[in-house]
Amino acid sequence: MIVADTFRAEVRAWLEANCPPEMRQPMRSEADTCWGGRRWKFQSDAQRLWLERMAERGWTVPEWPREYGGGGLSRDEARILREEMRAMGCRSPLDSFGIWMLGPALLKYGSEEQKLEHLPRIARGEIRWCQGYSEPNAGSDLASLQTRAEDRGDHFLVNGQKVWTSYADKADWIFCLVRTDSGAKKHTGISFLLFDMESPGVSTRPISLISGASPFCETFFDDVQVPKKNLVGELNEGWTVAKYLLTHERTMIGGMMDRGPALAVGQVAARSVGVDELGRVADPILRAQIAAFEVDEAAFRAAMERTGDLMKTGQANPAASSMLKYYGSELNKRRNELMMSALGADGLEWESPRSREGAAARSWLRSKANSIEGGTSEVQLNIVSKRILGLPDA
Ligand SMILES: Cc1cc2nc3c(=O)[nH]c(=O)nc-3n(C[C@H](O)[C@H](O)[C@H](O)COP(=O)(O)OP(=O)(O)OC[C@H]3O[C@@H](n4cnc5c(N)ncnc54)[C@H](O)[C@@H]3O)c2cc1C
Repeated sequence: MIVADTFRAEVRAWLEANCPPEMRQPMRSEADTCWGGRRWKFQSDAQRLWLERMAERGWTVPEWPREYGGGGLSRDEARILREEMRAMGCRSPLDSFGIWMLGPALLKYGSEEQKLEHLPRIARGEIRWCQGYSEPNAGSDLASLQTRAEDRGDHFLVNGQKVWTSYADKADWIFCLVRTDSGAKKHTGISFLLFDMESPGVSTRPISLISGASPFCETFFDDVQVPKKNLVGELNEGWTVAKYLLTHERTMIGGMMDRGPALAVGQVAARSVGVDELGRVADPILRAQIAAFEVDEAAFRAAMERTGDLMKTGQANPAASSMLKYYGSELNKRRNELMMSALGADGLEWESPRSREGAAARSWLRSKANSIEGGTSEVQLNIVSKRILGLPDA
C-alpha cells in the first residue's frame, strides 16, 4: 500500500509539472484528439509537448514493455496513472488504432523483428494505422472476405477492396485481412498482413457521414506487393490474430467515454437549464436521468477495471469484450442523448461558434455508429448469449 502511495505521489507530481494547462481542459470536439502519424499537424504546441513528454516516459502505452516504447508499468501502476490523469483532467496524449488494436496483437503474435520495427513507432505516435477488415460483402460475416494475396516468392500480391476503413486516407500503414487459400474453409484460409499505405496500387476514396464528417473510406488494392516479412503469425492462420485484435477493439469501443475529459452532462445541464435553491439541476426529470446515468457509468468503469484485471491474468471469458462493447456503446449513446436533452434547442446548432461548431450534435450523431463499428450490437449479443450464457444457437 505504501509503495502504491509513493508511486501515486510521484505520478501526481510528474503530471503537475509536465501536463500543459491546455491539455487539462475538457476536449471540445473530435478535433482535439491527437492521432499522430507522418502527416499529423499538431493543434497546438501544448499538444505536441504533451505527446513528446508522455512518449519519452513510455506513458502513451504504460503497460507495454520498455524495450518496445512502453512504460513497463504493472496493471496496478497503470490504473493509478489513469486515476491521477482523470483527477487532474489530463487529456489522452495519443489515441491510435496502433495502441488500441495492432499493438496488443503484435505483442502476442508478432515476431521479435516486427515488434521492434512497429511498436516503438506506435508508442511515439510516428505511424498512424488503419484497419482493413470489412469488405462490401463481409461485415458481420467477416470471414467471407475476398481480398486475396497470392504467393509470389519473396512477396504477396494483394488485390481486392475494403470498406468503412476508418481514416484510411490519413493513415500511414494498414493491418489487413487477406485470403491466402481460397480452397480452404472460410475461417482457415485467411492471413494477417501489414503494409505501407504508400505502396504502389493502394488507393482510398472517402465516404461522407450524416455528421458531416468523412472519417472513413473505401480502400482499393491493385497488385500491391507486400514483403513476406510483413505476415503476422502463421500463413492461413490470420483469423486467430484477427479475433484477438477484435477483443481489444471491442474493449476500446466499450471504454469510449474514457478517452479524455469531457464536460460532465450535469455541468452542461446546470448551465443550460439553471439550478434550484439547493444548487441542483432545476429540471427534476433531467436531474434523475443524469444521476441514473452517472451511477451506471461508475458501475461500468468498475466492471471495465475488473475485466481488465481478469484479462491480464488470463481468467476473463474471451467473450467479455463483447459484453463491454455492447454496454459501453449503449452508455455512450445515452450520454449523448442526455447532452442533447440538457442543451435543448441550442444543442441542434450546427455551425455557430456558440455551439463550438455543432460539437454536441455531431457527437450525438457520431455515437449512433458505436453500436455498428467493431461488430454490431446484435452480433455482440449473439456472442454473449452463446459464449457467456451458454444458450443454444437460434
Ligand atoms: C464508424 C464506423 C467505423 C468503422 N471502421 C472500420 C474500420 O476502420 N475498418 C473496418 O474494417 N471496418 C470498419 N467498420 C465496419 C464495421 O466493422 C461493420 O460496419 C460492421 O461489422 C457491420 O458490418 P456491415 O456494415 O457489413 O453490416 P451487416 O453485416 O450487413 O449487418 C446488417 C445488419 O444485420 C445484422 N446482422 C448481421 N448478421 C447478423 C446475425 N448473425 N445475427 C443478428 N443480426 C445480424 C447486423 O446487426 C446489422 O444490423 C466501421 C463501421 C463504422 C460504423
